[in-house]
Amino acid sequence: MSYIGARPTEFDDPDPRFPFPHTPTPPRCQAEPQMFDFVHGDRSDQNRQATEERLSRARLACSGCPIVRDCLRWALVNKPVTKTGLFAATTPSQRTILRKRMADRLGPDWIDVLARQDQTRRERAAAARHTPPTVDQARILRLDLEVNGGPLPLHRLITPEQQERNRIRLMASVTAA
Ligand code: SF4
Repeated sequence: MSYIGARPTEFDDPDPRFPFPHTPTPPRCQAEPQMFDFVHGDRSDQNRQATEERLSRARLACSGCPIVRDCLRWALVNKPVTKTGLFAATTPSQRTILRKRMADRLGPDWIDVLARQDQTRRERAAAARHTPPTVDQARILRLDLEVNGGPLPLHRLITPEQQERNRIRLMASVTAA
C-alpha cells in the first residue's frame, strides 16, 4: 500500500526517512479502508459485536499481507498519521504500548536510531553494488538464476500455512500488548 491507503490525516505528513513499503498489488486496507477504520477505544461502536467481527476480519487480512512487518514499523514511527486505524493488526492503543517498549529498548530517540540504522543499510547496499561479488556470492547468484530464474523477489506471495502462522503470532503479540 502506498501511504494513501494508510489513511493519513490531512494535517500531518509521514516521516520522509521511512517510505511506506512497496507492494506489487494494493493491500486489503487500501481496497477496503472502512474495514480497517478504528478509533481510540477501538470498540466504541454501538454494535460491539459487529466491530469485533470487523476487527477479526481486518487482522486476518493483515496476517496474509506480505509487508506486515514493515507496515508495523512504519505505523510505529509515524504516530501523527496513525492515531486511528488498524495497522499490521494493531489498534492505536496497542501501538502506544509498542512505542513505549521501543523507547525502553532503544532510548527516547528510538525513531532516530531506526532512521540511522536504515541509512547505514542503504549505504552498505550501495557500496555492495559497486563492489565485485565474492566467489561465494557469484555462486549463489548463479544458483538463483538456475533454480528460480533470478534472485528471489523481496516480498513473495505467502501460503495459507504461512498466513495462519502469521495470524497466530500477531494475535499473540497484540494480546501481550
Ligand atoms: S499489514 Fe494490514 S494495514 Fe498493513 S499494509 Fe498490510 S493490510 Fe494494510
